[in-house]
Amino acid sequence: MVAGCLFCRIVSGDIPSRTIHEDDRVVAFEDTAPKAPTHVLIVPRKHIARLDEATAEDVTVLGEVALRAASIARERGLDDFRLVVNNGAGAGQSVFHLHFHLLGGRGFSWPPG
Ligand code: AMP
Repeated sequence: MVAGCLFCRIVSGDIPSRTIHEDDRVVAFEDTAPKAPTHVLIVPRKHIARLDEATAEDVTVLGEVALRAASIARERGLDDFRLVVNNGAGAGQSVFHLHFHLLGGRGFSWPPG
């Protein structure tokens, strides 16, 4: 846990969230400012500030995060969905605890803005 990290505080239960999944390594919760009818954040419990700071020892949890996203999409009947990681402020990252955005329930354009 990193002091002052919003998602570390959510993961630890220090700050409430609409949690939809938690296990030893992964937590998923509803985004408070949803950009689509489904907007879930899936995060490793371990504090990794950004994807490009992940290392080989994080391979398992990264796979679990991706599989959890697909599982949540399946549970919600979403055949089409988008899984997004913003890496760095210039790419739109505002919370520096690695998280995957699961977005679904509407159409998406490509390329993203
Ligand atoms: P990013 O801009 O990629 O770092 O995404 C951060 C996301 O966290 C945004 O979609 C925010 O709406 C979301 N967010 C911020 N605070 C909270 C919170 N307390 N609970 C759930 N989601 C949050």
